[in-house]
Parts: sequence; structure tokens; C-alpha cells
Amino acid sequence: MSPLLEVRDLQVHFRLPGDGWPARPRTLRAVDGIGFALEAGRTLGVVGESGCGKSTLARAILGLIPATAGTVHLRGEPVTGMERKRLRPLRRRMQIVFQDPLASLDPRMTLGEIIAEPLLALRPELNRKERGRRVRRIMDRVGLASGWINRYPHEFSGGQCQRIGIARALVVEPDLLVCDEPVSALDVSIQAQIVNLLMELQREMDLAMLFIAHDLAVVRQISHEVMVVYLGRMAELGPRDALYRAPRHPYSRALLDSVPFPDPRIERARRATPLQGEPPSPLDPPSGCAFHPRCPLARPICRAQRPPPARLGEGRVACHFPLGETS
Ligand code: SF4
Repeated sequence: MSPLLEVRDLQVHFRLPGDGWPARPRTLRAVDGIGFALEAGRTLGVVGESGCGKSTLARAILGLIPATAGTVHLRGEPVTGMERKRLRPLRRRMQIVFQDPLASLDPRMTLGEIIAEPLLALRPELNRKERGRRVRRIMDRVGLASGWINRYPHEFSGGQCQRIGIARALVVEPDLLVCDEPVSALDVSIQAQIVNLLMELQREMDLAMLFIAHDLAVVRQISHEVMVVYLGRMAELGPRDALYRAPRHPYSRALLDSVPFPDPRIERARRATPLQGEPPSPLDPPSGCAFHPRCPLARPICRAQRPPPARLGEGRVACHFPLGETS
């Protein structure tokens, strides 16, 4: 049977007007060849610096922006290249939770209307009574009191707004939930509650989750597998524990080394080589391996040839000289 979500060599390029004269249009390679598979009940964490293409990847998977090349299939059905009308039945099966919970909710609608809206659009066959029943059921499940149903978004805290966002996404009972930095705007204690809620809901609903975040600790908590993205390309993908214990790509290693250890004695003793410099522009990516200008292990071949993702242990790594288990 095909995996729940299968992404193959996905590319999303944007044509931008050029500057100077004569102006030549430029190409922004936001996503530049990413592939993976995800099964029901599993979470793939996606990490990388700001601007590396994580959110564009999520939107292309959901069919919200067109792919330039490559394919996305949901349980064997194509998402890429579909007309809007034909995407509609698939939309119910793929939902998204956004980063800024308050900004993603319509301030003129009540809590009940906000959660019922996707049902109206994607499950028009349901009558009013059944819609109301489903809205109340998911409210209860995500921890929203039934007495709040006629309140407006501004009356809720950030954590409560994110619970509304989750209820709105899950009320249509999707197979895939894409979480795009869902806890970045929340306090640490609220972050933990939301992450625990998502993990519980995943178990109950057998959801596949794509969890995008820049906080490596949060990704470690929630993910089964982790994909590290650099400049729109997959640097490394592997089981969470193996990747955090012994990353094989120098960029993954540098990302993990950039997270300070809470214990100052361990922090002083460890031989960390945190990330140096800024990521290059996706408008003008470096030749060969895009990470080579920042990589302490770069050699001439790295500047000349782009390393394809190759199987290594239980994961895949795009590097000419991957790190060993004990590096
Ligand atoms: Fe570093 Fe070369 Fe590997 Fe790129 S291919 S990460 S430059 S060692």
C-alpha cells in the first residue's frame, strides 16, 4: 500500500523581476528537490534556519501553492498538478495549524462559527445539528469549555487561540495535519501543553503530522523522524534518536551544537562547533553543496558537485563526507 504522504523531488521556484538594466528575471529556489514518505500515526519534524523553505514546503504539500516540479501524493492520490475543484475532496484530508493563532482566526466570528466553518465548506452534506455536535465534541477534546462557544477570538489567550486553531483543523477529521511553527509564539509552559495535546490527539486519531519548527527541543519531543532542511534542500533525514545522538550531516551537527546546554559545566566541557555566518540567499545559492561556504569540512568537490541524498544507516544524508557515528 502507498504511504499516507509521499513527496518526491518537490521543487517550488518563484520567478522574481530582476533589478538593474536590462532587468533579467531571477529565480528564487524556495524548495529545491525534497522527498520523503510519512505514515499514519507518525510525526516528521522539519527543522532548519528561518527562510530555508520549511513553510513553502508545507504549503506546496497541501496544494496551497503550485509546485514547479516533483510530486505529492496522499495515499496514492496526486495533490500536485490538480485543479482547485479536484483538490477539494483532498483538502478535508489535509489540514494546517498556523504559527500565529490569533492572526489566523477571523475576529468577527465566534468560536463556534470559526470551528464550524471548515465543516460547512468541506462537509456540506452535514446538517446543522450534526455540525453543532461535531463542533462541541472537538471543543471538549482540545480543552475549550462549551460555554465559550459564543465568544470572539480577542477574548482568548494565545494558548486558547491555538487550541481553537487545532480544533478548527481537526473537526473535519483529516489524515494529515501540518503544524507550521505552532508553538513558536507561545510561552514555554503553554508550548508544553500544546505539544502534549497534539501528541494525544495524534494517538487517538492516528494522524500523520508534519511538524515544522526551529526549536530543536520541541521537535525532539514530538517527532518520530526528523528532516533537516538547508536552503530548500534536504540535508539529512533520519529517526529522531539517531539524528540527535549522532547527526551525520555537518549542518545538522552545527544546528545541534548551536543549542546551549542548560548545565554550564557540561556546556563549557563539550566540543561544540556552532553554526558560523548567515545562510546564503536562495536567489543565488552556492554551487555544489549549498552548505559549503559555512562547512568546516568542505573540500574542492563540495564546491563543484551537489551531493545527492544517499542512504546511510537508518536515514539519508546529502553530503560527500558524512560524519561517522562517533564524530
Ligand atoms: Fe560539508 Fe562537503 Fe558535506 Fe557539504 S558536502 S556538508 S561542504 S562536507
